[in-house]
Amino acid sequence: MKNLRAELEQRQQHQLYRSRRIVDSPQGPVITIDGQQRLNFCSNDYLGFANHPDIRRAFIRGIETYGNGSGAAHLVNGHSRAHHALEEELAAFSGYPRALLFSTGYMANLAIAQALCGRGDLVLEDRLNHASLLDAGLLSGARLQRYQHLDTDDLSAKLAGRDRGEKLVLTDAVFSMDGDMAPLAAISKTCRENDSWLMVDDAHGIGVLGKQGRGSLSHQLIQGTDVPIYMATLGKAFGTAGAFIAASEDIIEYLIQTARSYIYTTAMPAALAEASREALRQLQQDEWRREHLGALITRFKQGAREMGINLMPSDTAIQPIMIGDTGRAVALSQQLFEQGILITAIRPPTVPEGTARLRVTLSAAHSNQQVEQLLDVLNSLI
Ligand SMILES: *Cc1c(COP(=O)(O)O)cnc(C)c1O
Repeated sequence: MKNLRAELEQRQQHQLYRSRRIVDSPQGPVITIDGQQRLNFCSNDYLGFANHPDIRRAFIRGIETYGNGSGAAHLVNGHSRAHHALEEELAAFSGYPRALLFSTGYMANLAIAQALCGRGDLVLEDRLNHASLLDAGLLSGARLQRYQHLDTDDLSAKLAGRDRGEKLVLTDAVFSMDGDMAPLAAISKTCRENDSWLMVDDAHGIGVLGKQGRGSLSHQLIQGTDVPIYMATLGKAFGTAGAFIAASEDIIEYLIQTARSYIYTTAMPAALAEASREALRQLQQDEWRREHLGALITRFKQGAREMGINLMPSDTAIQPIMIGDTGRAVALSQQLFEQGILITAIRPPTVPEGTARLRVTLSAAHSNQQVEQLLDVLNSLI
């Protein structure tokens, strides 16, 4: 048996030990965490919807209509009218014939890889993909290969060498720990030329990018037909929880029949689906949130550049500050906390060795003044 205590202590020595802080407030620009109020610059609540009053009310109405739990899996009797309506609305919003709800993004990603691929097949992934996509590739039983970040030549070379079995390419649209974007038109073309499936994970694009918040495909002017499978989550800009896959009629029906992470799990509460339906309505109409967020991103980048802070090449709400050394990133995060600002240090194995960073995220809920405060504190520390 392995020595768990020794392994835990080793993690502690290498500044890799992870622990939870306890939150006593809703998410928002200011949260109460470990009993202290802190300016929050690390949640994925990009539009400030996690505590939006209309969405809260929709959630409560959903509970009054459907009760607390959904009772069973979708294929038993857990698939409520609220779930069904949300699927139809998400399909229309993302421009696909059908959409299928999942309880989490992690499970949605497992579903697609496992449904389309198995032993003898090939899954190709950008090397900086989110861990849930990498796990999806590994657990599918297919051969998993990673291509260089954003490098369609490398992708093309790896696809071209393969003429048997299924091929599936998985990529983040907006890279979760970096904030940069995949070149979707070029990736799509490479996949079509090589007879490969393609799924794009838009967890950080939906709601934030594109016309009416339609996400990365809209932002990059890509037709839905060029990306056969689109996945996005509801726990970030939507401010609720869950995820969906949008695709053709046949792909969705195939998932319903075969995807184990869809079939063998309890449906999310119907009330949560009602809350997500309201979030979808709000995010389409509130263009001002995306405009304000865009202005904050521009201001933050400009301010950080003037201070000589090492930002990564990102134009999105994810604005990581590259630190490198894990110990230094952890110490800076601690100093920020003492100065009233919450930004977690992102360390290996979430990011590659030697690339520890402070992952700053901006939200439409932040005020200009709060971003100035962040810049002032960073200026005094970095
Ligand atoms: C957050 C995230 C997921 C996982 O979604 P959950 O609903 O939180 O399980 C998947 N992919 C990416 C890129 C993410 O950032």
